[in-house]
Amino acid sequence: MPKTYRRIVLASRPIGEPKAENFRLEEVPMPEPGEGQVLLKNIWLSLDPYMRGRMSEGPSYAAPVQIGEVMQAGTVSEVVESKFAGLKPGDVVLSYCGWQEAAVAPGNQLMKLENWAAPVSTALGVLGMPGQTAYFGLLHLGQPKPGETVVVAAASGAVGSVVGQLAKIKGCRAVGIAGGPEKCAFVKNELGFDECVDHRSPTFREDLKAACPKGIDVYFENVGGPVFDAVLPLLNPFARVPVCGTISGYNATSLPEGPDRTGLLLRNILTKRLMFRGFIVSDFASQYPEFYKEMPGWVKEGRIKYREDIAQGIENTVSAFQGMLKGKNFGKQLVKLQ
Ligand code: NDP
Repeated sequence: MPKTYRRIVLASRPIGEPKAENFRLEEVPMPEPGEGQVLLKNIWLSLDPYMRGRMSEGPSYAAPVQIGEVMQAGTVSEVVESKFAGLKPGDVVLSYCGWQEAAVAPGNQLMKLENWAAPVSTALGVLGMPGQTAYFGLLHLGQPKPGETVVVAAASGAVGSVVGQLAKIKGCRAVGIAGGPEKCAFVKNELGFDECVDHRSPTFREDLKAACPKGIDVYFENVGGPVFDAVLPLLNPFARVPVCGTISGYNATSLPEGPDRTGLLLRNILTKRLMFRGFIVSDFASQYPEFYKEMPGWVKEGRIKYREDIAQGIENTVSAFQGMLKGKNFGKQLVKLQ
């Protein structure tokens, strides 16, 4: 094991889009594990949209990263030294080490990735937090029924790709929304959605309407903004809207200009008896065993497919994160550290 490792800390709070100068790449001495701890070499690092929220101060469901602290992130790591009875060198674990190449962690907070159904990187994607988000958000809150139309945006991404494929497994019509023809072709042809509509096209609103001839029964909200504006008039009476994310606004510094549409939204909620329900995946933590019972089999059988977008090396973490907020990623965004 080398004597030093590299990590990325938050240097200042971004205003609007995160910039390179908001982060600092540091080289620091390798730590030593104490009793009950292990020394980890991180192999895979997950980049997720929620990290934009952790860079800002202000009320949210989780505390922000402090200036000078390592950016938080899920990781897949290899144990290199262990002072914890349950783990030995060479074991591969799901960890939460952040944007860094190595870390010391308490052994009892790590999940050993033994007999994993797919490559271990999937513990950060389809068989990890994003997959759980899709599974519980769609099945528990969206409650799709056979024959219903389920719409999801960011449909080629980590969460959206699973939402549409689960909708198909449940006998629904799955309609994706994605940025650009290449992503739309992938969503329809590879992932098996019934349709996928390009939100960047000038005919987006008409295309979405044509793709949902019977209206929308479940809209899994990942993006907000103009995409939501196009979805709202198509929602059927008693439609369910699990509100998972609003990525189109994560870099916003103020509300967009234009007429106040709150009245329109409330009128729709009332007259169509819509159900909007925000959620954070950890709300379902006690039910994760249900996810691990069902999803690995579907992934193994190829009923749930996934795509990864892999950046190489910690030095490319910031640019990969910046790209993800603009839709440059094509699939689950990961950084390969080793
Ligand atoms: P993705 O892998 O889908 O990557 C983000 C994608 O968002 C981009 O590729 C892009 O896709 C799309 N996007 C970005 N900006 C816009 C925009 N202005 N309008 C429309 N689409 C845009 O990310 P995830 O699957 O990891 O996350 C998807 C959503 O789920 C996010 O909002 C995230 O915050 C949320 N989430 C919520 C969780 C919870 O517990 N509530 C947990 C995990 C994720 P495209 O090019 O197709 O537009």
